[in-house]
Amino acid sequence: MYKPGNFIPADLIINNWSDLKPYFDKLEKQNIETTEALEKMILHLSDILSIFAEQSARAYINMTCHTDNPDFVKTHETFATIISPEVEIASNTIQKKLAASPCFANLPAGRYSQLQKSIKRDLELFRKENVPLEAALSKLASQYGQLAGSLTVDLDGKTLTIPEASVFLESSDRERRKQAWLAIVESRFNKKTEHSEIFNQMVKLRHNIALNAGYKNFRDYQHDNLHRFDYTVNDVLKFHESIEKCILPLKIKIAKKHRNKLKLDKADYRPWDETGKPLGQPPLKPFVSAQELLDKTNKIFSKIRPEFGENIKTMEQNNLFDLDTRKAKAPGGYNYGLEVTGMPFIFMNAAGVHRDVITLMHEGGHAMHTFLTHDEPLIQYRHCPSEVAETASMSMELISSTHWDIFYNKQELVHARREHLEDIIGVFAWVATVDCFQHWIYTHPEHTPAERDEAFLKIINRFSTGLVNWEGYEPYRKNLWQRQLHIFEAPFYYIEYAIAQLGALQVYRNYIKEPDAAIQAYIRGLSLGHTKPIAEVWGAMNISFDFSEKTIKDLMDFAQEEIARLDN
Ligand SMILES: [Zn+2]
Repeated sequence: MYKPGNFIPADLIINNWSDLKPYFDKLEKQNIETTEALEKMILHLSDILSIFAEQSARAYINMTCHTDNPDFVKTHETFATIISPEVEIASNTIQKKLAASPCFANLPAGRYSQLQKSIKRDLELFRKENVPLEAALSKLASQYGQLAGSLTVDLDGKTLTIPEASVFLESSDRERRKQAWLAIVESRFNKKTEHSEIFNQMVKLRHNIALNAGYKNFRDYQHDNLHRFDYTVNDVLKFHESIEKCILPLKIKIAKKHRNKLKLDKADYRPWDETGKPLGQPPLKPFVSAQELLDKTNKIFSKIRPEFGENIKTMEQNNLFDLDTRKAKAPGGYNYGLEVTGMPFIFMNAAGVHRDVITLMHEGGHAMHTFLTHDEPLIQYRHCPSEVAETASMSMELISSTHWDIFYNKQELVHARREHLEDIIGVFAWVATVDCFQHWIYTHPEHTPAERDEAFLKIINRFSTGLVNWEGYEPYRKNLWQRQLHIFEAPFYYIEYAIAQLGALQVYRNYIKEPDAAIQAYIRGLSLGHTKPIAEVWGAMNISFDFSEKTIKDLMDFAQEEIARLDN
């Protein structure tokens, strides 16, 4: 396992920026006239960043596990709002120094080309005049967060949050899911103007950031800013087309089958029916306690690969799980790699439902990835782009599904696996809708809110099954984009999920054919971390990084066969 060297003490306690600053100052004074010295500086920067990242992670973990502890909340805030921005500025200064060295271009290419690319890109895009615009955007993002988080609905005389109310969308009681659906869309629609006003300002700021950096529009700027070195804007547009042509037809088939199961006529399949469970299909109850969930997960991971089970055990021995839901815990789930400990922490809110199983398999995939990269000395290479990181986690969902008999009887297992696959197919169209809509927004920066809604309607129609009767609820449909946090807070960060899912489906197809070989390839690829371009990492995983119709069509044929096999 990687350990930081002597440049900075591994047990340094960071309470404030002044604890860390001396190491950046020392680093800045280093002489880098030889390639060797330059390599040392890169390593030392990584050591400082690793120690900072571990403590910043611990602060975040403590806060999310105990949101009612004022000390934890305050420490996290100090890291997020005071120390972190300083670290960013100081790293930028060091990066500039690295790039300005005459030896920078001559670093051994096999080892450093990925790092060179990203440092160069960051420096190319950096504009001082954009710093206040970025700050204004992050303020707007927290305004959106507060607004979206404050939405509630009244159901059965109780006030519920949107995630709480969403549970009823899966109900097999039609009236119940209709009430929940209506309450949710109305609650959002009531705040439409507020949402729109925040977003109008965001579009303006983002457009100006792009112009300042010498770009024609924010779409092209953000593509570069997100370090998408391995595909172009045009590739993404082609991917939208492939989704429409090769994946949507399968989604239509699945929706028709679902409509039949609900015993609804053609005109009677309504927006609240799409997520409904058929009558007589009771909800799955995979476990009772978080400990049971963990023990069973350990068994599954050991079956997939004994060392994966060992990793889970080591995490458990080191208290690196907080799984059960309770009061004063933040919502959601995550895997957080600890850069010095060399192990990850998994957080989630398990309540005994099937979704929790998928969440832990997903985060467990990220966790195995953390273990597989922990020998890498450079933090920049331990962190992978989401296209790769999410391939690790989404593959684990699918691979593990072949072992879910540990949670379920035969019939439940079939239901769970089939619905998981159907959900995966269904999500592609929504990802394409969200992405395509953002392409339109930022290539038409002068649009009005009404034009924006019309554009969304056109795009959602392009990727929809055409089976749902929206009569009487059209205004809510045009407003659906406002539920997607990424559009507000992380522009263009979304298509990665669809890309990673293409990878995951290929890993799963390999696993079904030859489990051992597929897991060996999974390990081989993920162990590369970020040292190689995505196509090479995927190549090592024995899967191909391309969005061509042929690849996608083959994959959909496979998915269809799998679903048919589970249907029988
Ligand atoms: Zn993930």
